[in-house]
Amino acid sequence: MERRVDLAEISDGKQYGINDMARAGCGGCEGCSACCRGMGRTVVLDPYDVYRMTEGLSVSFERLLQEKKLELNVVDGLILPNLAMNGPQEACAFLNEEGRCRIHPWRPGICRLFPMGRLYGEDGGFTYFLQIHECRKKERTKIRVRRLLDTPDTGRYETYIARWHDFRKSLQKQLAGDAAREREVNLALLKLFFLTPYAPGEDFYPQFDARMKRMEEKTGC
Ligand code: SF4
Ligand code: SF4
Repeated sequence: MERRVDLAEISDGKQYGINDMARAGCGGCEGCSACCRGMGRTVVLDPYDVYRMTEGLSVSFERLLQEKKLELNVVDGLILPNLAMNGPQEACAFLNEEGRCRIHPWRPGICRLFPMGRLYGEDGGFTYFLQIHECRKKERTKIRVRRLLDTPDTGRYETYIARWHDFRKSLQKQLAGDAAREREVNLALLKLFFLTPYAPGEDFYPQFDARMKRMEEKTGC
């Protein structure tokens, strides 16, 4: 989800690249699960998150929705999936009784990156920034952003993240004020990128590229 904030108020004022060290290491979040609760609809998933999660858990996207582990909501005019927060404590559906993540190897990108975030520029690129008020751990260690992400093939991953972000921005702009088309395009988006299963064991990026090509043909974005 895109937020308009004053970076000086929420960050240490620095912008980081993938190979930079940032004071974001939480030591495996030992004894703390604060950011797995009460996150509302903010942990929005992208297609790679869904590919990784459905493959890792051997479960379909539809099943995750039915089991209320994920839900669908409108984000700036687009229907996208997010982690569902359940119960009186509004806990992530993947949090276990010991306050640990049940899907740690397949957790979404936003969870991996926390307490860092991305700052998107007008040129289609992005940098990382450290959210200084978000993590409760007082003594954080320095960690390389690449390690925090814990994602293979970071070059391809970053290219994909920038492309997905640009595509969403462009689609949001195109659909603004066109309710009939918004519904039609959102259904196509949902079907193509989330409901249609990704081939397990096969590289994600060519599958994403093929789907993106079809979407570009449909929308011109
Ligand atoms: S997926 Fe895991 S790390 Fe992310 S909010 Fe849920 S329990 Fe926490
Ligand atoms: S608040 Fe910090 S230490 Fe606690 S779960 Fe979140 S990232 Fe980990």
